[in-house]
Amino acid sequence: MKFFKSVKFRLTVWYLIVMSILLFVFAALSYFTLYHNLYNNLDDNLKNRFIKLRSLLQDVIDNADTDIDIDRERELGEVILVYYPKGLLWKGFGPFIDTSDITPMVQEAAQGAPFFFDITTTYGQEIRFYAAPVIVGESSFVLLVGRYFGEIKAILNRLRTTFILSGLVMIVLAGVGGLFLADRALRPVDRITRTAQKISERNLSHRIEVHSEDELGRLSHTLNQMIARLEDAFRRQQQFTADASHELRTPLSVIQAEATLALGKERKEKEYREALETISQEASYMSSIIDKLLFLARSDIRQEQYSFEEVNLRELIMDLATSIEALAQEKGLEFEMGIVEDLVVRGDQDRLKQLFFNILENAIKYTLQGKVSISVVRKDEEAIIAIVDTGVGIPPQDLPHVFERFYRVDKTRSREEGGTGLGLAIAQEIAEAHGGKIEVESEVNEGSTFSVVLPVYPVAPRDSGKRKSKRKRSSAEDI
Ligand code: ADP
Repeated sequence: MKFFKSVKFRLTVWYLIVMSILLFVFAALSYFTLYHNLYNNLDDNLKNRFIKLRSLLQDVIDNADTDIDIDRERELGEVILVYYPKGLLWKGFGPFIDTSDITPMVQEAAQGAPFFFDITTTYGQEIRFYAAPVIVGESSFVLLVGRYFGEIKAILNRLRTTFILSGLVMIVLAGVGGLFLADRALRPVDRITRTAQKISERNLSHRIEVHSEDELGRLSHTLNQMIARLEDAFRRQQQFTADASHELRTPLSVIQAEATLALGKERKEKEYREALETISQEASYMSSIIDKLLFLARSDIRQEQYSFEEVNLRELIMDLATSIEALAQEKGLEFEMGIVEDLVVRGDQDRLKQLFFNILENAIKYTLQGKVSISVVRKDEEAIIAIVDTGVGIPPQDLPHVFERFYRVDKTRSREEGGTGLGLAIAQEIAEAHGGKIEVESEVNEGSTFSVVLPVYPVAPRDSGKRKSKRKRSSAEDI
C-alpha cells in the first residue's frame, strides 16, 4: 500500500523504535535500581537487627532473664528463631512458620560464616533470614532474624505493571504524535510534488510556494531557480525558432517572387539573368544562415568538434590581415595593426580565425569612415585581442544583447551588409569553447572595442575537455 511505502510511515516507525528502546532502557534502569535498593535495605535492616538481638540474647542467657525481653523487642513482621547448632529449635518468636527447610541452613550457619537465605512457608509467604552463630559462654546457638518481604515483591510487581501499561500508552501516543509531526514536516514535499506535476514544457510559469527558510524552503527555492532557468531557456529556444523561420522566410519570399515574376511572361535573356542572379544571391544568403544555424545547433548539443593545438596568435592575425585589409580598402577605411605580441594559445586554428574574422568583418561593416585596428597583448595569464573601430557604435541598451542569436541593432543596415545576426553569437560560442570570453565597450558615433580574452598556453582551455578533438577542417569564411 502507498502509505506503508511513504517516508511519513518510515519516519514514524523509526521514531517509535528509538522511543521504545529509550523507554525500555529507562524502565529497566529504574526497576533494577529500586530492586537493589529495596533488597539492600532489607539486608542492612536484618543485619542491624541481628546485632541488637544477639546482645539481647546473650543477656537473656547469661542472666537467665525471661524470654519476654526478646519478644517485646521483636518488631512487626519480624521472625526471631534461636537454634541449637545441630538444628534443633531452642526458642522462636513471632508467627509460627514451618521450619523443616531451615534445618540445613542452621547447620551451615553453625559452621561460622553468616549468610542470608530465603524460604517460603507452607502458606506461600516468603521470608528472608540472616543467620549467624552466637556464642554465650560455653554454649553456642544459631540466631536467625527474618522478615516477610512479600511487600517488596508487591511494590516491584506494581512498578512493573505501571511501566508496561504507561509504556504501551506512550508508544501509542508517540505513534500518533510522530505521524502528525511527520505529516506536518513533509507537507511542503507534497506541495513541491503537486507543483512539479503541473509543470510541463508548455507551462513553466508555476512556482513552488516558499514558506520557510529551512532545508525544504531552500530546496523549493533552488527548484524555483531551476524552473526559471528552464523557462528562460525554453523561451529563448522558441524565440530562436521563430527568428530563424522569419529570417529564412524573407529570402525565400524574394526567390519565390522573382521566379513567379520571371515565369509570368516571355522575357529577355538579360531579365532572366537578373532574376537568376537575385535568386542565387538569396539562396547563398539562406545557405549562409543555415550553415551558421547548424554550427550553433551542434555547439548547443556539444557536437561541434574542435581540434586543439598550439596556435601562434601573431601568425594567425597576420594570416587574416590580408583579407581584412582588402575589405577595409574596398570601403575606404584604414586597417591598422597595433602591438601584436608573439603569444601562443591552445585552440582550434580555423575556429579562432572564424572568431576574429566575424568581429573584424563587423568592425568594417559598421564603420563608415576612419579606421579599424587590432592588437594582441598579454595580461597575466591571458591574451587580449582588441579590435577597435571608429564606427557607428552600439547604444547602451543594445549592448547586453549583441551576442544573442539574430539580435541586430539596425536590422536594415545589417541586412544590407549581408549580416545575419549570428556572427557575434558564433564568435562567443567559439571563445567560450576555448575557455575565453568576449567583452565589448562602445559609444554611439564614436566606435566600439571588442576584446577577446583567451588563456595563454600552457594554461589549458577550461572547456577543452568537453569538446571532441577530432579534426574537422573549415575556413573562416565557411560560416
Ligand atoms: P550581423 O550579422 O548583423 O552583423 P552580429 O551578430 O555579427 O550580426 O552582430 C550583431 C549586431 O551587433 C549587429 O547587427 C550590429 O547591430 C551590432 N554590431 C556588431 N559589431 C558592431 C560594431 N563593430 N559596431 C557597431 N555595431 C556592431
